[in-house]
Amino acid sequence: MINKKKDDNTINLSPSEPGLVLEEDQSFGPEDSAPAEKQGGGGSSNEEREFAEGEVLDAEEETSEAMSTELAILTGQLTAQEDGKGRIGDRLVEQGLISSDQLNVALQEQKLSGKLLGEALVSLGFIDAQVLTKFLAESSGFEVFDPKSTIIDSEALSHIDKKIAQKYKILPVSIENKVALVAMADPYDVVAMDTLRNYLPKGVSIKQMVTTPSILSDAIDAAYGYASNVTEILKELEKVEGTPELADLTEEEAYSHPIVRLVNGLLFDAVKQGASDLHFEPEENFIRLRYRIDGVLFTAQTMHKQHWNAISQRLKIMANLNIADKLAPQDGRIDMNIGGRLVDFRVSSLPTVHGENIVLRVLDKQSSIMPLGRLGFSEENLAKISRAQERPEGIIIVTGPTGSGKSTSLYSMLNEINTVDVNIQTLEDPVEYSVPMIRQTAIREGILDFADGIRALLRQDPDIIFVGEIRDGVTGNMALKAAMTGHQVYTTLHTNDSFGALPRLFDLGLKPGMVAGAIIAVFAQRLVRKLCPDCKKEHTPSAEECRIMGVDPASPPTIYKAKEGGCQSCAGNGYKGRTAIVEILSFDEEMDDMVANNATKADIKAKAVEKGFKSLKDDGILKVLDGVTSLEALAKVVDVKK
Ligand SMILES: [Zn+2]
Repeated sequence: MINKKKDDNTINLSPSEPGLVLEEDQSFGPEDSAPAEKQGGGGSSNEEREFAEGEVLDAEEETSEAMSTELAILTGQLTAQEDGKGRIGDRLVEQGLISSDQLNVALQEQKLSGKLLGEALVSLGFIDAQVLTKFLAESSGFEVFDPKSTIIDSEALSHIDKKIAQKYKILPVSIENKVALVAMADPYDVVAMDTLRNYLPKGVSIKQMVTTPSILSDAIDAAYGYASNVTEILKELEKVEGTPELADLTEEEAYSHPIVRLVNGLLFDAVKQGASDLHFEPEENFIRLRYRIDGVLFTAQTMHKQHWNAISQRLKIMANLNIADKLAPQDGRIDMNIGGRLVDFRVSSLPTVHGENIVLRVLDKQSSIMPLGRLGFSEENLAKISRAQERPEGIIIVTGPTGSGKSTSLYSMLNEINTVDVNIQTLEDPVEYSVPMIRQTAIREGILDFADGIRALLRQDPDIIFVGEIRDGVTGNMALKAAMTGHQVYTTLHTNDSFGALPRLFDLGLKPGMVAGAIIAVFAQRLVRKLCPDCKKEHTPSAEECRIMGVDPASPPTIYKAKEGGCQSCAGNGYKGRTAIVEILSFDEEMDDMVANNATKADIKAKAVEKGFKSLKDDGILKVLDGVTSLEALAKVVDVKK
C-alpha cells in the first residue's frame, strides 16, 4: 500500500467502484449534492468528498477515482481544470480520437465559453458524442447504452413515468433477477438514483448504463411515446392501410415505426419466455410465429399476412441480409441487448411457396453457462466428470444430436477448470457463448478450418483445447496429436451413444492403436423434459412399465405422469424446463488394450458395464423414479424398450 494522496483538486465522485451494482441499502449521506448545484458545473459540493488528509489508497482505487473523474467531466460535474491539466484531453489524443490541435482549440473554447471540455469538443464537432461516451464509459466500467440495439422492457418502463424520466434523465431498460438496468446521462447523480430507488420495487438494485443527454432524451421520447407491447402494436397495425416501407427509414423514424416496434416486441417476448428458436412461418393467408421452448414448438402469434412483407424486410435489415433477394436462402445475425442481456440471433431465411420462411436461433451469450452441478447430473456422474477432468492429457468427447445440450455441458466443464493458471483456447463454429478468460477463435470457411486451427493453437502454448467438432480425419488426427503431446482436448462428435464414438473415429481414418490411450472419456447426452412440480400426478406403473424400469412388478414404486392440460405455473404443458441425462464411458488401461486390439463394440460394452457403466436409459430411469420426469418424456429421447 502506498499513500496516493494527490493535490487538492482530486475529487472522489464515485460512491463505490464504478460498474458495481449499487445495493438498495447503500447510503449516500446528506452532504450529497442537489441537482441545481451540480448543473452549475462547479461541482463545489462534491469537493467536500475529497479524500481526508493522509488517507491511504491502493493503486486500484486511485485508478477508479481518476476514471470517475473523467466520466464526471462529460456528465457535467467537473470542469477540465479540476481534472488536473486536462488528463482526459491527453488520453483522447493518445487514442487518436482527437488531434492535439483540436484539444488546444477546445481548451481555448472552454476558457472563453465556460463550457465543459467534453461539451466543447462535441460542439466544435471534433468528436462524436457517442464516441466520447463510449470512451468515458469504457474507462469507468459502466456499460454504454445504445438505443439502436436495445429493446426496452415495457414492464420496467411502467415503474417510472415519462415526466420523472425526463426530469432525472433516467430510462429503465429492464428489471430482471432483482436488478434494474437503467440508462442514465449521469450515473453519479445521487438524486436521480434516490428517485429511482423510490419508484422501483423493494429489494431491486440498480445497475447504470451511460449515454449522452441528447441520445437519452430521444430514447426516453421513443420509449414512452409508443406502445411496445406486442398485443397493442398488433391492434395499432390493424388500423394501418397497406404495407409501410421500411428500407428508407432513418434511425429516428425507425423508433416509432409500428413494424419495428412489433419485431422488437416479438424478439423480447421470445427471449423472456426462454425460447431457443423463433419460427416465422408464412402460410397462404396468415403468418404463424412459433417459439421453441424446452425443445417443443408452440404457436406464439398468428398475424395478418399483409404485414409479412414489412416484418420479413425488417428482420432481414436487422440481420444485414439482402432484402431485394427473396429467392435465395440467406443467413445472418442480429446482436441485441434484451433485458440487459446480450443476445445473438442466428437468422436464416428460406423461400417457400408462401413466401420467405425465417428462423431465428437464440444464442444467449450470458445466461447459458451454468455451474456443472446445476445441469441435473447425478452425484455419481458428477464424480465421473471430475475424475475425467483431473487427467491432464487426453480427449474428452461429448456426443449427442443437435439440441441435446452438449455445448452447454462442455462450456460448463471448461468453466469448471477455468482458472488463471491454465490457458484454455477454443476453436468454434461459431463461437456460441463468450466465456471470460478463455481465448475463443471462430472457424471461418475458406480462411481457417479446424485442422489448421489446431496447428495454430498448439503454437499458443495452451493447456486445454476445445475443438468445436471433429468432422474429418485430418481434424481427428490433429486432435489426437494434441492430446498425446500433453494437452487436454475437449470436442464433440455426432453419434447416438458413447460407444458409437470409437467406430466413428475409425471411420474417419483414425487408427485404433492411436485412439487407444488417447481418450479419457466419452459422454452421451440428451435433454429430457421435467414434470411440472405443481401439477404432476402420481402413477402406479403397469407390469410392462416395471419391466422397462427394471423393478419388481409385485411391488411397483410410485412414479409420476404429466397432468393433462397442466396448470398455470407450467402454462398448461404439464412440463416445465429440461434436465440432462447422460452416460459416461470412462477409459482405463484395460479398456485401452481392448480398443487397441480391435475388440468389438459388444465386448467393450460388456466390460464397461462390469466396471459400473450406466446408460442414458439407466440415468433417465433414475430420474423417473425420483419423480423428476415421466416415462413418456424419457421415451421421447431414448429407446426405453431396449
Ligand atoms: Zn403444472
